Amino acid sequence: MPQNLFPLDSAKPFTDQQITGHNRWHPDIPPAVTVRPGDEFRADCREWFDGHIRNDDSAEDIRTAPMSKVHALSGPFRVEGARPGDLLVVDILEVGPIPQEDSGPLAGQGWGYTGIFAKANGGSFLVDQFPDAYKAVWDFSGRTATSRHVPHVTFTGITHPGLMGTAPSAGMIGKWNAREAALIATDPDRLPPLALPPEPQDAVLTTLSGADFDRVAAEACRTAPPRENGGNMDIKNLTAGSRVFYPVYVDGANLSVGDLHFSQGDGEITFCGAIEMGGFIDLRVDVIKGGMDTYNIHENPLFMPGNTPPQYSEWLAFSGTSVTLDGEQRYLDSQLAYQRACLHAIDYLTTFGYSPEQAYLLLGAAPIEGRFSGVVDIPNSCATVYLPTAIFDFPIAPSADGPATIDPGIGAPRA
Ligand code: ZN
Repeated sequence: MPQNLFPLDSAKPFTDQQITGHNRWHPDIPPAVTVRPGDEFRADCREWFDGHIRNDDSAEDIRTAPMSKVHALSGPFRVEGARPGDLLVVDILEVGPIPQEDSGPLAGQGWGYTGIFAKANGGSFLVDQFPDAYKAVWDFSGRTATSRHVPHVTFTGITHPGLMGTAPSAGMIGKWNAREAALIATDPDRLPPLALPPEPQDAVLTTLSGADFDRVAAEACRTAPPRENGGNMDIKNLTAGSRVFYPVYVDGANLSVGDLHFSQGDGEITFCGAIEMGGFIDLRVDVIKGGMDTYNIHENPLFMPGNTPPQYSEWLAFSGTSVTLDGEQRYLDSQLAYQRACLHAIDYLTTFGYSPEQAYLLLGAAPIEGRFSGVVDIPNSCATVYLPTAIFDFPIAPSADGPATIDPGIGAPRA
């Protein structure tokens, strides 16, 4: 195992650790650790809410989840010799939950969770149909996940970091704040909000203190959206074996990582939509000098996905088009088409006995594939969502016999 350069005690909150990470983006957040090109190292990661979510049968903790505290990130890792204009090569060697022997009451110790966020606290992809907070707790056995809240499914985790990225430049955070503020200004009272402005409350900025802390906390960008530096891309295919190429915007690149997911469906649709967990990640870093110009990659990382299992081969896929539930025609709206495909999948799964919330949580957490299948056939986009049939312990395809009836168990707890 590579040396753990960012050890965390899973019984302690993020700010009481031997090394403090961060939960905002800013070029002046001091690096926590320095590594060299070619180095392999381990980092522990807190789950994104730093242990707020409990292994219990209530979603009250999801309803009150403190958005000002996310994402609890490990880093920044300064890479010696990396300069703006280089590409940072990051190999994901291994990623997994905190080993079982650390088991305790906090998330990430042999279990994780999926949440449907309430409309008042960020909402989710299908917020109009699902305005309230719900939760599913998933238990890990090796690489396998099951849930007392969504019974009759078992799947192998497609384990990956939800969030990884390099530090932005000063010019870049100015640009981000300006464009996001302009969007918020178009409808400042909207619920859920259009974007999240800088929030000094609950900011954690490694070793910064005093006036420097106050200045950076007032300017630093929130970590919720993916941006030019990568960040919260929530790409389920960044499994072990992946290689990611990040643009470098500051001296040392200042790589950060967190928001580990045991599994996730494409789109992370319930917002807290993966199986969130604390865990560890093993990385190797290298630098391609001047790579941004050489390869014309000036913003947004590219990657070579890992080839680790699960590799499902049989699917039941649902489709949707860009027509609203009220019958209004929209022009090539792929977001809407994907929503409709997901709603069709949820409607279908309820015929077996699942509640709509159980079905929605399953689509967020299981390794479902989402695709923009057609984007040119005016006026309708066509989006599709593929469910791996092997994860169900009952026949899932339509047949003349009608749907099997399952016992939905205690159901998905709500707030
Ligand atoms: Zn996440």
